[in-house]
Amino acid sequence: PKSKLPAVGTTIFTVIGQLAARHDAINLSQGAPNFPCNPRLIDYAYQAMRDGHNQYAPMAGVASLREAIAAKVEALYGHVYHPGDEVTVMASASEGLFAAVTALVHPGDEVIFFEPAFDSYAPMVELQGATPVPIKLAAPDFAIPWDEVRAKITPRTRMILVNSPHNPTGTVLSDADVAALEQVTAGTDIVILSDEVYEHVVFDGAPHHSMSRHPRLAARSVVVASFGKTFHVTGWRVGYCLAPRALMDEIRKVHQFAVFAADTPMQHALARLMETPADYLNLAGFYQAKRDLLAGALRDSRLKLLPSAGSFFMLAEYGHFSDEADGEFVQRLIIEHGVATIPVSAFYRDGTDARVIRLSFAKDDATLLAGAKRLCRV
Ligand code: GLN
Repeated sequence: PKSKLPAVGTTIFTVIGQLAARHDAINLSQGAPNFPCNPRLIDYAYQAMRDGHNQYAPMAGVASLREAIAAKVEALYGHVYHPGDEVTVMASASEGLFAAVTALVHPGDEVIFFEPAFDSYAPMVELQGATPVPIKLAAPDFAIPWDEVRAKITPRTRMILVNSPHNPTGTVLSDADVAALEQVTAGTDIVILSDEVYEHVVFDGAPHHSMSRHPRLAARSVVVASFGKTFHVTGWRVGYCLAPRALMDEIRKVHQFAVFAADTPMQHALARLMETPADYLNLAGFYQAKRDLLAGALRDSRLKLLPSAGSFFMLAEYGHFSDEADGEFVQRLIIEHGVATIPVSAFYRDGTDARVIRLSFAKDDATLLAGAKRLCRV
């Protein structure tokens, strides 16, 4: 068939995951925990199934879960989303992003996003017949160059896609970024699509700048969040979207025909777990300890670690001791050293290779220490 995505291959997370499995490598690649979720969550899911919650959920999501989401967002960020028409449970944050782009981006539109970027962003935009407009972030701080953003906004700019904490760089939006985002979008009809799947994983006491914390931004934003990342259940495929009603009406038109509704028993289980906020309020400390454990264990390695202010990830530079392309370097680490990471060139449409790899510390401590030991031999 004539490909709609001729330049796209299999996602890097699948490619590296398979290679890692084949070589029995310690896997610091995908941002997926290798440790269990709260056992209560499993009990709740089992109970929900036994209680007969096994048919379609309401299209927009189980009511108790939407109410729990709205209450959490109001408590943490101050914005009131109406659970009836401004909160939708999605079959993963990925579906939320995809539904938002499909519903809101028209052929010929332009969508600004920041590279390195999660690998689904540009293809989602291209599938709408729209144009991805990447703006590059530069090491070591990967700050958003707002003058370039201003220069790249045109009458066709329909959306700006932001992601904080940022995958793969581990940076977070600052107060100044929020002010700049308000300034560049003021007086336009640009929609902000905000990928906030690591919202509870912001380190060193910094606040998470959800778009829902800032009324002028919230009014034009679709916020996408993830239960998988927050409760260590990435395989459950449940996330959610928040948006003002006019935007959400359009998103639901896509969601209802893409998947109709997200998984029913998992939604009931998640609603019950959300009654104990400690499960997500302690997440930043939990992952900060992992970040610090991995960084400490890599102190004697030749890799040069870049700081991580949030997310499950840190970047490491190796160009000072090897000329290998990052794809080759990662492959050699898997095959010769038995440790898997992600080449950051996969986060650029043009394959920019700055000789950087991404390490995931969403792993149990023994895995982090064993992986670090192998990386110290590289
Ligand atoms: N977000 C995860 C990561 O960056 C992967 C998600 C996926 O594989 N689709 O590792």
